[in-house]
Amino acid sequence: MGTGSALAVYQKCQCDAPRGDGDEGATVGTVGYGPGVSHEVATDDELDTRLKAYEGRPAAVARPGKDPVNAAMIRHWCEAMGDTNPAYSGPDAMAPPTMLQAWTMSGLTAQPGRAHAYDELLGLLDEAGCTSVVATDCEQEYLRPLRPGDEITFDSVIESVSERKTTKLGTGYFVTTRTDIHVGPDLAGTHRFRILKYTPARREAGQQRPDSDRQPQPDSDQQPRPDGDRKQRPTRPRPVVNRDNAGFWEGVRHRRLLIQRCTACGTLRHPWLPGCNACGGPDWDTVEACGEGTVYSYVVMHHPPFPAFDPPYAVGLIELSEGVRMIGNVLGVPYDKVRIGLPVRLEFHQYDEELVLPVWRARDAEEAVA
Ligand SMILES: [Zn+2]
Repeated sequence: MGTGSALAVYQKCQCDAPRGDGDEGATVGTVGYGPGVSHEVATDDELDTRLKAYEGRPAAVARPGKDPVNAAMIRHWCEAMGDTNPAYSGPDAMAPPTMLQAWTMSGLTAQPGRAHAYDELLGLLDEAGCTSVVATDCEQEYLRPLRPGDEITFDSVIESVSERKTTKLGTGYFVTTRTDIHVGPDLAGTHRFRILKYTPARREAGQQRPDSDRQPQPDSDQQPRPDGDRKQRPTRPRPVVNRDNAGFWEGVRHRRLLIQRCTACGTLRHPWLPGCNACGGPDWDTVEACGEGTVYSYVVMHHPPFPAFDPPYAVGLIELSEGVRMIGNVLGVPYDKVRIGLPVRLEFHQYDEELVLPVWRARDAEEAVA
């Protein structure tokens, strides 16, 4: 953070989301992170200082692994991964190094293990409006092979809390925890896990509260809404646009559905990828889909109730007449009348100022109405 912004209040970090009752009247200028206590205004510096204080504090209570390193877990892992490396079986087997975290996991019957400091840190970030979380990456180091019979112990610390960062998802803080895995006194490996706790970029400060206005409203077609209505509810999630698929979304913005075509062998592909699965060729151009397709498969979403959607609604895997398949909402027919083989036609829906998505309208219904 530049010093120029040091005194900016973090109101702009979406701190309009009191997480409990009774905190509306919190005193301006205080920062708190216990239950029922709310910050109102804090400077970035004050928050950063509080966050930094968690570096080095425990993220999990040190404890032994639930099971010793064992051949059965190694075998299941290798089968699931399709890893036939001979080093992982036989009398002198070692565990695949990437199993490192598996030996620390507590399973479905979790042991209480998270340390207070980590919960406090996440609570503080929630209070600052950074209520969303996404795992960003993990990083492992392998210092000693693990072999059947080894009994591991592990502990976890909050290694770092970043400065405030603005990403495409929103503004927030990267929190890195480091787990050290030991066998006796030897460090066998480390596992770093990083999350971003952030305020979603789509919500303008003061505009809406993430936890309210979630009542479903009649909108079986997921149609665009008039402005007044839309302000009352969260917007739909944005597509994740990256270098590989940017051309697809650029096409959608111009209401063209583009299919990638390998220029070496002519194979069409979707989703967009950097290379051809058929011949490995890296070069491609596009063809525009004619917009006809059939439902190849589908699901009807009833639960969970995502804020921007009104369940139940049908999501289809559509087989385009060009042969590739893609996923999209199926409209124009009640959700329980969607069937495999149903003919559909492409439409583009403008969901809000920025978001256009390809959707699929049942053709029979369309023709019946016409
Ligand atoms: Zn090819």
